[in-house]
Amino acid sequence: MTATPKAKRPNFVSTTNACKMCAPLGAAMAFAGIESCVPFLHGSQGCATYMRRYIISHFREPMDIASSALGEKHAVYGGGPNLKLGLINVIKKYGARAIGVASTCLTETIGDDVSMILHEFRKEFAGDLDLPELIHVSTPSYSGSHMDGFHGAVRAAVDQLAGDGEPTGRINLFPGLVSPEDIRHLKRLLEDFGLTAAILPDISETLDGPALEDYRKIPEGGCPVSRIRSMGAAPASIEFGRVLDPARSAGGVLAERFGTPLRSLGLPIGLRETDAFMETLEELSGRPLPRRHELARGRLVDAMVDGHKYLSGKRAVVFGEEDMCVALTSFLAEIGVKPVLVASGGSSGNLERAVRDVTDGILPEPPKVFAKVDFAEITEQARELNPDLLIGNSKGYRVLSRELDAPLIRCGFPIHDRFGSQRVRHLGYAGTQDLFDRIVNTVIEKKQADSDIGYGYI
Ligand code: SF4
Repeated sequence: MTATPKAKRPNFVSTTNACKMCAPLGAAMAFAGIESCVPFLHGSQGCATYMRRYIISHFREPMDIASSALGEKHAVYGGGPNLKLGLINVIKKYGARAIGVASTCLTETIGDDVSMILHEFRKEFAGDLDLPELIHVSTPSYSGSHMDGFHGAVRAAVDQLAGDGEPTGRINLFPGLVSPEDIRHLKRLLEDFGLTAAILPDISETLDGPALEDYRKIPEGGCPVSRIRSMGAAPASIEFGRVLDPARSAGGVLAERFGTPLRSLGLPIGLRETDAFMETLEELSGRPLPRRHELARGRLVDAMVDGHKYLSGKRAVVFGEEDMCVALTSFLAEIGVKPVLVASGGSSGNLERAVRDVTDGILPEPPKVFAKVDFAEITEQARELNPDLLIGNSKGYRVLSRELDAPLIRCGFPIHDRFGSQRVRHLGYAGTQDLFDRIVNTVIEKKQADSDIGYGYI
């Protein structure tokens, strides 16, 4: 059942350590997955600095986010002139072929019409400057999470750039916010099926590139704008996210405008969700599951049998991005771990339904689901549920993991207190295998740490 734990505490009115990040931050990560694109915040320098810090700390890559650097007087007179000046600087300094403009709390509050300002800008400078694509997305953070900003930016790119034309034979893949390693894994998987795809966003190189002798202002990689332009001519789109509403998603835009068939799937974590993805690829490619993935599936099932004795009956609290929560809950239910609480700062309104869908027929009853909550509320609820495990981002470490003395398995965004987040693989049979091993080993480590004997053989 979904409940609002705030109702139990009428005197508590503020948010303490929100279980979400700000909306334009998500948009910046999505724009970073477009080739030669610079994310641009229409707002103050402070917002851009906060977002850079968050993204760099997770991906450990340089991350430029331009800003219109508004001050007090712009809050009164409007930020249009600064936005135009900032765009000229980015075009001249970076040579960007696309700029993704996201609004912030400030510019949403003062009511800047970014669409109109960009329209004016194009008219004013079309003759003098080689203008890049200007994509804009409205991201008032007071009414959304980083995932709203992320999906909003992907949808905006498709909405503002995509057309149809000659059939490309290339499918569209909208993977959501997953790791660069996950994107690389998806690319290899598609290749194994003989499929080519436009993956949006593609952060596999832009947010996890090789060390370079010379600094590049814009990292290589990303989904080419030309591929976005022809997305309407694809034979199909695949979109991950059971919480994501197709009526307001990039895949939904393509389906509505060009009739591009849309397959909405859960993030492929766990056997059932990955099976559904593989079946879709079999259907689209006309090829059976490649041997390498058949073997990976078989090994995963074998591991589940071997590891079941460590996990059976363990209780888990899952928190973070809604779609990641749903996929993790589905997987935990499969492996005999009881998800007792699923909590997110997101507010799609679809979390409870999605959790019920993926646990139906496996769990005798669905776990408690709390949407739009902060870590104070999650901790209060989790304390009563006595979990053995926590699965979510590293923001839950200090307030949740330490207080409950329960180990945290780090998944999602952000992960600031571990190394290698950009190389963590969650998706497909192989990603599920990695995750399964991590969960089992975490349980074993905790047992060892709590033991007076110090078992060396468990
Ligand atoms: S003020 Fe709004 S846009 Fe800026 S960092 Fe905070 S939540 Fe994000």
